[in-house]
Amino acid sequence: MFITRFAPSPTGPLHLGHAYSAMLAHDRAQAEGGSFLLRIDDLDQTRCRPEWEAQIFDDLAWLGLDRPRPVLRQSTRLPRYRAALKMLWSQGLLYQCSCSRADIRAAASAPQEGAPLLGPDGVIYPGTCRPSTPPQGPMPEDCALRLDTAQACKMLDNPLSYIEKDQIITPRNLPHTVGDVVLARREMGASYHLSVVVDDADQGITHVIRGEDLQEATQIHVLLQRLLGLPTPAYHHHALIRDDAGKRLAKRDDARAISTYRAQGASPRDIRAMVGL
Ligand code: GLU
Repeated sequence: MFITRFAPSPTGPLHLGHAYSAMLAHDRAQAEGGSFLLRIDDLDQTRCRPEWEAQIFDDLAWLGLDRPRPVLRQSTRLPRYRAALKMLWSQGLLYQCSCSRADIRAAASAPQEGAPLLGPDGVIYPGTCRPSTPPQGPMPEDCALRLDTAQACKMLDNPLSYIEKDQIITPRNLPHTVGDVVLARREMGASYHLSVVVDDADQGITHVIRGEDLQEATQIHVLLQRLLGLPTPAYHHHALIRDDAGKRLAKRDDARAISTYRAQGASPRDIRAMVGL
């Protein structure tokens, strides 16, 4: 069985990098006789726009990537994410955090700390709000919740591992390399890491194909899958499409938006050639 997905956030136009990711996943699913699903990562409602979502559908259809409906929308799934968080909370693995980004930067760069360590989400959380014993009582609402990663790793009965391009990867030392990541945000209810893990499991995803910018985050996802009793898919992190100066493409880079190429008269075949497919 082969089920993969493309999971864009409707916060701007799809660019060549997105097209590459989507076409790679689609082509792989087709070659394996599997399915290619679409998920709209619209958890952050302050940044997502219906017009960007409409443009995603339009661009994907134009590229010839057929997708089954209905499409899964993260903004409809908050109760599911909260249920997963409660499961972690009841195991004593979450704690409330009230630090701002500035607090974290200041604490992490205090002279006694040395150079701040960086993880998948930026500066590794210095542990300011981490309690010495697991918090008791019901899970608090409307606040940021972090994973006590050291505590979580202690609960594992065997080492973490996942398959990346046919190789077995064994993430190690997560308290040091990723730290206590945010799993619920005050204004969003859940974070990217939590929602992506729950959604991949609920959509039955067997193969995750996405850019190598998310490679480091995969160790968090594999840990969460283990803690939540969910299966770990195989992963394929592909190279990023870069501009002529070698910089990775950004959503604001309209020059490389699929819609711009379309307006200039390019064909889907031209887009495939541009990304080397
Ligand atoms: N929504 C994420 C992004 O646009 C991708 C999520 C994923 O593939 O895991 O970067």
